[in-house]
Amino acid sequence: MTSSIAKQITHIRQELPTEVRLIAVSKQVSVDAMREAYSAGVRDFGESQIQEAAAKQACLADLPDINWHLIGHLQSNKVKKALEIFTWIHSCDSLALAQRLNRLASELSLKPNVCLQVKIVPDPHKYGWTIPELLADLPELDRCDMLQIKGLMTILPLGLSEAESLAVFEGARNLSLQIQAQNWLNLNMEELSMGMSGDYHLAVRAGATMVRLGHVIFGDRLPVK
Ligand SMILES: *Cc1c(COP(=O)(O)O)cnc(C)c1O
Repeated sequence: MTSSIAKQITHIRQELPTEVRLIAVSKQVSVDAMREAYSAGVRDFGESQIQEAAAKQACLADLPDINWHLIGHLQSNKVKKALEIFTWIHSCDSLALAQRLNRLASELSLKPNVCLQVKIVPDPHKYGWTIPELLADLPELDRCDMLQIKGLMTILPLGLSEAESLAVFEGARNLSLQIQAQNWLNLNMEELSMGMSGDYHLAVRAGATMVRLGHVIFGDRLPVK
């Protein structure tokens, strides 16, 4: 066990361009496994649930240089807690949520790093902006000046071929370039959070700057209780 996590991390790092940030997705993974990943050099962990992340943070309080990334949908009643425990929020998926994050960040004097979650292909079962929705909300998002908006995040719909997957990732990259060219005051587009265990090679090819990898590092997750 010990060596397999470290081995996987070493292997993945060897194939990732050095500038791509590896986020180890540790949802439903034990803190012991997270410590192994930490020992292998990982400093970025992705969690999808506030409570789980808070509990792990308490267990890992002796490792203060971890960057905690929220990658799952954030309910409005948990925004304050999320701001307290995560420095990165990848899953900002609506204008209302961005504005609430902005307001509570201001109250807490925090400046969280935020990615805007987009659906390059419309999918009613997923959170996030469609492309036209996001373009329409940019002026309001630009006013959320407590947020350090860093780029876009996307998740592939299920069941795409390799060519279709690559096209979706390239669509995210093109959208980010389009937004960047509009010269907003507060919207930076240097980050592209895309790529999971099954598709990160394609995401990196399309310009991902952060990949979110779970089972390829940790193996199968425990069943959800
Ligand atoms: C679970 C999850 C991942 C990691 O998934 P794997 O397939 O285990 O790599 C990445 N991103 C998000 C948003 C997730 O929910």
